[in-house]
Amino acid sequence: MDEIKEKLFYEQKNGYDLLDAQERLTCEEYCRGYMDYLNVARTEREAVKEAIRLAEAVGFAPYDPSNGPIQAGEKVYYSNRGKGLMLAVGGRQPMKNGCVITAAHVDAPRLDLKQRPLYEDGELAYLRTHYYGGIKKYQWTAIPMELHGTIAMKDGSTVDVAIGREPGDPQFVITDLLPHLAKDQMSKTMTKGVEGEKLCLLAGSVPYAGDGSDRVKLAVLSLLNDRYGITEADFISAELEAVPAFDVRELGLDRSLIGGYGQDDRVCAYAELAAILSLEEPERTAVCILADKEEIGSYGVTGMTSHAFEYFIQCLCGGGCTVEDCFSRSFCISADVTAAYDPLYADVSEKSNSARINYGVGLCKFTGSGGKSGASDASAEVVAYLRRLCDENGVTWQMCELGKVDQGGGGTVALYMAGRNIDTIDAGVPVLSMHAPFETTSKLDCYMTYKCMKAAYNA
Ligand code: MN
Ligand code: MN
Repeated sequence: MDEIKEKLFYEQKNGYDLLDAQERLTCEEYCRGYMDYLNVARTEREAVKEAIRLAEAVGFAPYDPSNGPIQAGEKVYYSNRGKGLMLAVGGRQPMKNGCVITAAHVDAPRLDLKQRPLYEDGELAYLRTHYYGGIKKYQWTAIPMELHGTIAMKDGSTVDVAIGREPGDPQFVITDLLPHLAKDQMSKTMTKGVEGEKLCLLAGSVPYAGDGSDRVKLAVLSLLNDRYGITEADFISAELEAVPAFDVRELGLDRSLIGGYGQDDRVCAYAELAAILSLEEPERTAVCILADKEEIGSYGVTGMTSHAFEYFIQCLCGGGCTVEDCFSRSFCISADVTAAYDPLYADVSEKSNSARINYGVGLCKFTGSGGKSGASDASAEVVAYLRRLCDENGVTWQMCELGKVDQGGGGTVALYMAGRNIDTIDAGVPVLSMHAPFETTSKLDCYMTYKCMKAAYNA
């Protein structure tokens, strides 16, 4: 009976039972590269900047739209306003035969400074924020924070800001109430316990010498003016993001896990990037997308719904075919993270259809919520294609969905890619504590996601 069971049942194996010693070393090496990237890429702009640096180091050049159709083996990138990035490696086949696309996002939940952020209260200076993406607000208090971003000046110049990353830099914090006085707060629901308007960063406490009001605010502005040459009005045209200041670290006694901020979705962004940077002359043109604005709906000029994507593909086609022709024969992996099964919160998952840590890249036929609402729902044929591709290339993979039926849900860029008449499927790294200031992934799953992207490009 064991024999027939083995033949007919679908049993999954822990990825470590399939990984030999040599490949384990390759996995470690890959994860070191990823951890370095994650440490540097604290915002979408920094994620793009670092990706460009890595791409240029292996011969990618800025794309010139006047170049005509992309040539086999040609390596190009196109920065979408410094906040999104598209890279391509020309294939042996023409663009009319379609391309292989992987699409991840490099924005992550965070606290954006408001356009008039600075104020003083109780002789302390604060920076008001407006949260970006889906967060549990209570997780963002009483942890060290950094401030990163860009200030666009009226004269057209820009000033890049990064405070808190370098050793010895000051950092920021959002204070929380001591338990001794939190009787009222603790009886509230977790959504109400910390309010959005209370997510204000402590920014200083020393008053400017002299008399008058708002002396601490003045002293803070004076420091900013010395360092960056800005005045209070310049916050109006700034994008400043408060992000958790935690270093990326190995977790667990066996060092098998990775802890860090922004792994949704920079973990998949890096997997795609590492895969496309390893290509020389694929069969079909490879396209790697690092999109912005996914966490707030993929809208806007740098989001995945933007025609910046059509523009780039049209340029690569260079008159050889229409974008529509190319799309109709293309294949896309929407590379985004999924929820890992958490034994501490087992009741939100249906175990046999949940992604498990160390079981490899998670393939999702559909996302969405309720009755698959908002899902792109990949065709069975597309699922079969990726399943075969993974098996043929030694990729440990698992089929998963996000949580129990009617427990909640979420989405990715998949529906926007599929809406363009591109066969699309979701695949990505399972994450514990997704959207928290410090997210957890497994090295094996990160590495298998990279292998999956590479297999797709090399098909
Ligand atoms: Mn995501
Ligand atoms: Mn997300």
